[in-house]
Amino acid sequence: MSNQPQGTRALPESSSAAHILAEKIDREGPIPLSEYIDIANTAYYASKDPIGEDGDFVTAPEISQMFGELVGIWLSDLWLRKGSHDHVHYVELGPGRGTLASDARRAMSKFGCHPQVHFVENSPVLKAKQAALHRSAAWHESIDSLPTDAPLMIVANEFFDALPVEQFISTKAGWRRHMVARERNKFIAIPGTQAIENQVSKSSAGLSIGTILESSPASIQILGDLSSRIAKQGGVILIIDYGYDRPGTGSTLQAVKNHMPISPFDSPGTADLTAHVDFHSLSNIAKTRLLSIHGPAEQGQWLKALGIDQRAKRLAQMVPKKADAIRAAHHRLTHCDEMGRLFRVMAASSMDWPEPEGFTYGES
Ligand code: SAH
Repeated sequence: MSNQPQGTRALPESSSAAHILAEKIDREGPIPLSEYIDIANTAYYASKDPIGEDGDFVTAPEISQMFGELVGIWLSDLWLRKGSHDHVHYVELGPGRGTLASDARRAMSKFGCHPQVHFVENSPVLKAKQAALHRSAAWHESIDSLPTDAPLMIVANEFFDALPVEQFISTKAGWRRHMVARERNKFIAIPGTQAIENQVSKSSAGLSIGTILESSPASIQILGDLSSRIAKQGGVILIIDYGYDRPGTGSTLQAVKNHMPISPFDSPGTADLTAHVDFHSLSNIAKTRLLSIHGPAEQGQWLKALGIDQRAKRLAQMVPKKADAIRAAHHRLTHCDEMGRLFRVMAASSMDWPEPEGFTYGES
């Protein structure tokens, strides 16, 4: 995390999100950072499929089928131990190309688990890709329309990092909200003018000038609502994302375009804006809804506990000419210098569902 001031590049003429934002700021004055991210990311995901080697970033299910398969096996195990409900829903938040759901469903079907499939997705481009793989799925613009009649098995891989964050910055005049303004045809982040001391916890009083506190009210709202549903209907949510386990300071907002980091204020709507996921706050909100929390664990250790080493070996034996690629994918998903440590896995389940696998490695 860093406390560097952000936003110094010229505004490109061609981006429609940049125009919408510029007009809004010229009309209304500086807008909260969270609103800037919301507008930029909605335009970004609506404009293209950004996932894959040819896009802006690659996600775990696109690296190897092993990832989705192990998620499917993990869900099946819970489902079987809970008593194999006939009626259960598989829900995925931000399913991207639908690859994880394909691999997970194939694995689940081996155990006789055939849940109804629901996708929460707001990108028309990605919805079309998902529809090509999952003809019988139901799509939802938001979590509000998810079914209420049966247990939910919810999966969110790299979904929460795409939700807007807001930031507070400590100034000589006190705590201020981070706002986005325009200066000489560029977007810049500036402290707001209104005092917001009551929104910052008392423990932040001694922090030095320039310190940034970040939070994601949108993430808290979504997980709070889903947790209430799970507490009532039964089930589990599995969250996999890059993030941190303890509260910290500094901005984690970043932008990625063509696999390269750029300034988050450089070209809104044409780069992927993300922030690290605050697992501490997510686990707290799920606890307030009386769910039991598992993890966060490191992705590498979680996948190993579920048997990724054995699966990689078996796949390499089955398709020897792909053995090197399989070994490389295994390394990328599990090694601590790759996705193995930065990515975290957390589950929250209703009290009447069994203890999920994968979170007790290292214990005797
Ligand atoms: N889970 C996929 C894709 C991750 S990219 C994978 O692992 O490959 C983020 C996904 O979340 C995309 O599908 C994007 O369209 C979706 N998304 C982002 N913000 C969203 C929002 N506010 N509501 C619904 N879907 C959203």
